[in-house]
Amino acid sequence: MEKRTPLIAGNWKMHKTCAEAVDAAKTLVHLVSAVTERDIMIAPVFTALYPVSAILDGTQIHLGAQNIHWEDEGAFTGEVSGKMLISAGCRYVIIGHSERRQFFHESDQWVNLKIRAAVKSNLIPVMCIGETETEYEQKNTLSVLDKQIKKGLEGSFSDSLANLVIAYEPVWAIGTGKTAKSAQAQEVHHYIRSLIEKLFGNVLAKSIRIIYGGSVKPENISELMNQPDIDGVLVGGASLIPETFSRIVLYQ
Ligand code: PEP
Repeated sequence: MEKRTPLIAGNWKMHKTCAEAVDAAKTLVHLVSAVTERDIMIAPVFTALYPVSAILDGTQIHLGAQNIHWEDEGAFTGEVSGKMLISAGCRYVIIGHSERRQFFHESDQWVNLKIRAAVKSNLIPVMCIGETETEYEQKNTLSVLDKQIKKGLEGSFSDSLANLVIAYEPVWAIGTGKTAKSAQAQEVHHYIRSLIEKLFGNVLAKSIRIIYGGSVKPENISELMNQPDIDGVLVGGASLIPETFSRIVLYQ
């Protein structure tokens, strides 16, 4: 089986001032200093990116942003481009998080433009997909994911997506304390990988990292990571406290 380096990513959402983010990053660097063969990423708010990048410089923790605009620059008040994220020290960018889809009406078409912008800027896109509780109850999970993937990646070629990460985050599991059972998550991840194979071929399907998000904690990380198609996790709430996040990073 193809060996994929696990990605353990923390989404800090709209939390932490610059000073708090720097403090948390310093503590995390210390706590995970012995980790090898695992990619770690934290995504602070825009204002904290640059100061946190100075703390992460030369460590094995990568910096990520929580959003990107598809233009390089221009009259887009409140937006930040890929070129700017790179200049702040970012390596990753989270795109299409369910909170952006829900509260800021981000469409699959916007997600598509943002993924292209990330690839063009040399950022690793973490494309978030997932069904709502109603869609889950109506057993529409796979058709929802199908549409989000096809539209989000429309017009792409497998070589432009070589670094793409897909984060499957059932919306009903985000910040709710409810987690998909690991076997259930595995089934969905397997479906996503088969769809990637159908759309972009076997090479990308084997190498792409498909990570899980939704109330991941130190208590459930090992079981999730034991599943063959789960290549990492995107962690919200539990990533805010470095001690807790480091226990997730250090799972056995
Ligand atoms: C998230 O926001 O991506 C997330 C998974 O949040 P939480 O871990 O708090 O459910």
